[in-house]
Amino acid sequence: MTVLEIRNLSVFFSRYYNWFRKRTEACLNGLELSVGAGQLVAVIGSSGSGKSLLAHAVMGILPRNAGWSGQMLYKGELLTPQLQQRLRGRELALVPQSVSYLNPLMQVGKQVRMSGGGVRSRTELRSMFRRYGLESQVERMYPFQLSGGMMRRVLVSTATLGGAELIIADEPTSGLHAELAQETVMRFRELADEGSAVLLITHDLESVLPYADAIAVLYGGTSIEVAPAHYFSGDGTMLRHPYSRALWTALPRNEFTPPKGKPLVRPARSAAGCPYREYCESASEACRSGQIPVRRVNEGWVRCIDAT
Ligand code: SF4
Repeated sequence: MTVLEIRNLSVFFSRYYNWFRKRTEACLNGLELSVGAGQLVAVIGSSGSGKSLLAHAVMGILPRNAGWSGQMLYKGELLTPQLQQRLRGRELALVPQSVSYLNPLMQVGKQVRMSGGGVRSRTELRSMFRRYGLESQVERMYPFQLSGGMMRRVLVSTATLGGAELIIADEPTSGLHAELAQETVMRFRELADEGSAVLLITHDLESVLPYADAIAVLYGGTSIEVAPAHYFSGDGTMLRHPYSRALWTALPRNEFTPPKGKPLVRPARSAAGCPYREYCESASEACRSGQIPVRRVNEGWVRCIDAT
């Protein structure tokens, strides 16, 4: 069952410049992806590419000067602000990027029990902490007393204690050493195996590959390819978009060659044409105008007119 379906999502901000002139800037443009129950879909993009905005748009917690267009469906139902409010912290859970989401003045056990608006029992909390290798005394600790790894595990517990059906993890491996990053992603894999739909937002392709079902690649504020994780293997020729192939060959286990040029993290001012056209060896005149549509190719989706 598809739990979350995102169609043509754009997120934009209104900003003032030159005193009272207002300008609207797009940060995401025409993004498409979906995640089903029992699936872990990793969203890969460079820092600043709007990955967190995607999480915040789904949760309904965008800043006040932001707007969005397109459609977001939760189990087939339009995700309206009212529905987001009703589901947030219950069926929809966010594991935030920053540990600063925890209240520094409150014991972590209390925070986890109160997450999502409900109050969970101590027994539930203890069994969740045990599951994540957190000893019972962690309950009474304050955030500043926890190590980075413990803090991540507390955040995962916060999101999972309510039995959420859609879990969005925003850069959960950021700043963690490789072993801890693997362990963190493995936790999300377990949650997917138990039936949750997991959207894991990251820039760390290497850590998520062994655990993800599919990888959605963002470039220029849009999804340029959604491919099964096993397409990222061998010489990368199963990948249909040249930027996805460039990301794959940039990994240390491959050629370690960084993608050409500076990554385009935001939609270009003129949204016409392919955002990757400046660096693509197959670019033609047709890539420079109009909107490049998303197409189904083999088992994935790609935004490239040349993909077969
Ligand atoms: S649409 Fe054109 S420029 Fe963009 S990746 Fe495909 S071939 Fe290259």
